[in-house]
Amino acid sequence: MDILIVEDEPAINHLICVNLQDEGYSCTCAFDGHHAAELIEKNHYDLILLDIMLPGINGYELMEYVRPTGVPVIFITARTGLNDRIKGLKLGADDYIVKPFQIGELLARVEAVLRRFGKSEKRLELYGVTIDLESREVRKDGKPVELTVKEFDLLIQLIRNKNVALQRRRLYELVWKEEFTGETRTLDTHIQRLRKKLGWEDHIKTVFRIGYRLEV
Ligand code: CA
Repeated sequence: MDILIVEDEPAINHLICVNLQDEGYSCTCAFDGHHAAELIEKNHYDLILLDIMLPGINGYELMEYVRPTGVPVIFITARTGLNDRIKGLKLGADDYIVKPFQIGELLARVEAVLRRFGKSEKRLELYGVTIDLESREVRKDGKPVELTVKEFDLLIQLIRNKNVALQRRRLYELVWKEEFTGETRTLDTHIQRLRKKLGWEDHIKTVFRIGYRLEV
């Protein structure tokens, strides 16, 4: 697995690189946008970790180079960059991680994104529910279930993060691709509808003060 790390702060770039190499990944490091663009055009990577504020070409602009390649991207954003992660997701990033982060979290996100893409899954199946990712058709015990676009996206996020307590903020931002303002009703209502439509009242758990977890 070849991972491109685009991060202009040498210490952070080095830290990510060393830890990923320890896990057996091969890493290429880029410290500015122009070099990154050149590497993306010339080589194939399995994943790109992309900082936003970069000399030369910034992370958003680099997405123009990345998108045609179909390579998955995890944005690295600063905590102060409130709208960064939303913009990143809208531009097609698969996930984001907020600086300063723990290496354990980074590794978990890297693994999750690679697993998702490696399998290039077309169909998911769980508790009698089958989901066709291409046609976006959902069936429960063979019978069609009508889900709205957001309910469907929410379901996919829950399944991809199964057994993980997902923060409301993360879940909301991954699905709605807009900033979570702390207004929880939209998300909570969608979760309730999803539970009801799928009969998953016992499977989608509310995690006190955090958010939700799909228990498998
Ligand atoms: Ca930076």
